[in-house]
Amino acid sequence: MPPKKTSRKGALITGNWKMYKTMDEATQFLNEFAPKINVPVYLAVPFTAIASCVAVVKECGAPIAIGAQNMNDASEGAFTGEIAGTMLKESGAHFVILGHSERRTLFKESNQFINRKIKRALADGLQPILCIGETGEERKRGETEKVLEEQLLQSLEGVLATDLKKMILAYEPVWAIGTGVHATAQEAEKCHAFCRELIEKYWTKTVATALTIQYGGSVTPENCKELVDQKNIDGLLVGGASLSAEKFGKIVNSVTQTGI
Ligand code: PEP
Repeated sequence: MPPKKTSRKGALITGNWKMYKTMDEATQFLNEFAPKINVPVYLAVPFTAIASCVAVVKECGAPIAIGAQNMNDASEGAFTGEIAGTMLKESGAHFVILGHSERRTLFKESNQFINRKIKRALADGLQPILCIGETGEERKRGETEKVLEEQLLQSLEGVLATDLKKMILAYEPVWAIGTGVHATAQEAEKCHAFCRELIEKYWTKTVATALTIQYGGSVTPENCKELVDQKNIDGLLVGGASLSAEKFGKIVNSVTQTGI
């Protein structure tokens, strides 16, 4: 059972393991972490670990949604090394991260490609988490809002309000990812509020209000609370710190008060 979507201020935390953890390491982590979890938490694991992680979570009944970090835009085909949404769904994935800056930068993914993936994910019954964010250079040039608007509108082109409502948006400034330098709560809040305004302007106020917007970029147990205390920050996308059950547990605990 996928966890229920949290309320606007329910602080939904997603962990992104990137290309870390074998199947064994993943199940070891979850055997320690999952039994303590009693609020919805998302975990994007390597493809090979999806099914085994889903099995652990199911066994202990924890409200943890297991997801993937990428997928192809086609339903099937001669795309060596790629993976289809239906395959992820069959493995038990609930959601998929799309448009992560590492995909955009290292694998040259365009907004148009990401847009097609989002539509495919929705059709395949996966919840997309769309990542957008400016580089350090773009921020220095004062182009943050221009970049966010372009990424948001192009990646979501033709996505209906009814579908957008099912998604999660993640603001992840590229300069903050894996650098140890996080956006200040004020910087992040400004961008989140801007994204919400865009959603209201181009879709509906209802979707803008309901949409979960996560912040990602060097989140730690020390800085997480201040970030989610902001009006427009509904949760966090956590990379490095999600690899440690202790650190990730501390983050989940300090923003949801679950007493882990
Ligand atoms: C990420 O991978 O999306 C991320 C935000 O990484 P980190 O927390 O390590 O900066």
